[in-house]
Amino acid sequence: MKILCIGGGPAGLYFGLLMKRRNPDDEVVVVERNRPLDTFGWGVVFSDQTLGNLARADEPSARTILQSFNHWDDIDVHFRGRTVTSTGHGFCGIGRRRLLNILQDRCAEVGVQLVFETDVTDDQALARQYGADLVIASDGLNSRVRERYQATYQPDVDTRRCRFVWLGTRKLFSAFTFAFEQTEHGWFQAHAYQYDGDTSTFIVETP
Ligand SMILES: Cc1cc2nc3c(=O)[nH]c(=O)nc-3n(C[C@H](O)[C@H](O)[C@H](O)COP(=O)(O)OP(=O)(O)OC[C@H]3O[C@@H](n4cnc5c(N)ncnc54)[C@H](O)[C@@H]3O)c2cc1C
Repeated sequence: MKILCIGGGPAGLYFGLLMKRRNPDDEVVVVERNRPLDTFGWGVVFSDQTLGNLARADEPSARTILQSFNHWDDIDVHFRGRTVTSTGHGFCGIGRRRLLNILQDRCAEVGVQLVFETDVTDDQALARQYGADLVIASDGLNSRVRERYQATYQPDVDTRRCRFVWLGTRKLFSAFTFAFEQTEHGWFQAHAYQYDGDTSTFIVETP
């Protein structure tokens, strides 16, 4: 079978990797508009449970991911001048780019073809070009493919008022940190976590 994944984010790469592992005779190609080292955002966080699932699905990539992780157990909640610490949770942080590079390397290792710098505007033409039997729309939250076939998929998108900004900082957090602040402009919520030796993610949300 020939499989074409449109979009090389975590979903497209991981799907390609698992399909190729399961059926080595399949031809799997992942087409991504960005370059391998491009990505948005800072670090992401996984629970120990998620890591366990990754290890069961593909042990080599899970091992590399774990080696690249910053691990912690505590959650600190800052609210109205108090800090409440809850322990024993088990989380890990990793740079989003590092995560993608690990998955890209693992895909290449098992024989998934990775095509970068190709912005897919016509999925059907690309499917014909690769002779694809199956097309996976792994093009993310604002999926062009889902939009094009919305009459078929009938997506139910519920847009809320909250806005966020995804920041990075050299301030290091020893716990998964949640802070709530009421300001003259309304409530702000930040959540922060360290994801490598000298960087933390700092996400701020507000309605
Ligand atoms: C601020 C923030 C923090 C987050 N933190 C976490 C976290 O800590 N842990 C966690 O598990 N999840 C986190 N998430 C969610 C996580 O980022 C998403 O669940 C994940 O990225 C979804 O993966 P995906 O592959 O489906 O989509 P995406 O990551 O969006 O990847 C889609 C890919 O498709 C490519 N693409 C899109 N259109 C085209 C096209 N037409 N042609 C070619 N390529 C295309 C894009 O360039 C992109 O590389 C966070 C999300 C945000 C916004």
